[in-house]
Amino acid sequence: MQTVTLNNGVEMPVLGFGVYQIPGEDTERAVSEALAAGYRLLDTAAAYGNEEAVGRAIRSSGIARGDLFVTTKLWVQDAPAEENTRRAFESSLSKLGLDHLDLYLMHQPFGDVYGQWRAMEALNRAGATRAIGVANFYPDRLVDLILHNEIAPQVNQIETHPFFQRADYQVLMREHGVQIQSWGGFAEGRNDLFTNPLLAEIGKEHGKSVAQVVLRWLTQRGVIAIPKSVRAERMAENIEVFDFRLTDEQMARIATLDTGSSLFFDHRDPKMVALLGGHRLDA
Ligand code: NAP
Repeated sequence: MQTVTLNNGVEMPVLGFGVYQIPGEDTERAVSEALAAGYRLLDTAAAYGNEEAVGRAIRSSGIARGDLFVTTKLWVQDAPAEENTRRAFESSLSKLGLDHLDLYLMHQPFGDVYGQWRAMEALNRAGATRAIGVANFYPDRLVDLILHNEIAPQVNQIETHPFFQRADYQVLMREHGVQIQSWGGFAEGRNDLFTNPLLAEIGKEHGKSVAQVVLRWLTQRGVIAIPKSVRAERMAENIEVFDFRLTDEQMARIATLDTGSSLFFDHRDPKMVALLGGHRLDA
């Protein structure tokens, strides 16, 4: 598996497996199948409610801990967040059954962001997580976080797919040493992504599916991708993307699909700030 090197020297696989919206009862099987298919980067979150099932699949796989790259995410915490963040981290680690994480992400740019970040910096310094990062940070919030803290996020996980490509933002992140990671790389199938004629045509030119074209396009741009699927045949399909290369002309054609805006919601919309920022997980 190809890797990217984060700003602290940690190597992270460029393709992994996401488990959002996989029901608890399906997660252990799905993650076991993903590990058998060759995925080594796993992406979960406290808010997904399936960390324990991910942990069970990791343990039963027999794969050495050092060969895995496990990410989970901190949900929104109130001020002062240092103690709450440490507790939330311990809870996630214990549910996963691990003694350290590879990447801990702040799931949303809401709540006591600076308190949460200082606690995450402390966890990183203590070796409890090899890397720390954020998710859903728009450029203004990311730059402010970087300027007013000691450790710059290693990763920003944001909505990135053919209809919302984030190319300019990727450049800004690179200037600040922040690695872009895509969530919703298939736009969860919205806009009829899987039957998009332009992507299907490019797929035909390589004997590849639309899903494979999208994942190749992301990873070829240096964007880490974490496709989700509950089906073993699709897991296998989604990891077979390193045996072909999109031409500059094909990359330019895909660039024309960009709408420049979210297909889901904007994290700067006050209604979403109130809805997500006001939500708390049960302990
Ligand atoms: P996604 O990966 O864009 O799309 C998943 C959908 O695509 C599922 O309906 C899946 O169906 C289908 N699919 C997968 N492979 C396919 C293939 N080869 N052909 C046809 N259909 C295929 O959506 P996502 O799960 O939202 O995003 C990926 C990961 O990003 C998540 O699992 C999560 O880890 C992360 N994420 C993070 C955030 C955040 O706020 N940080 C938000 C959303 C997601 P089946 O399962 O039936 O195959």
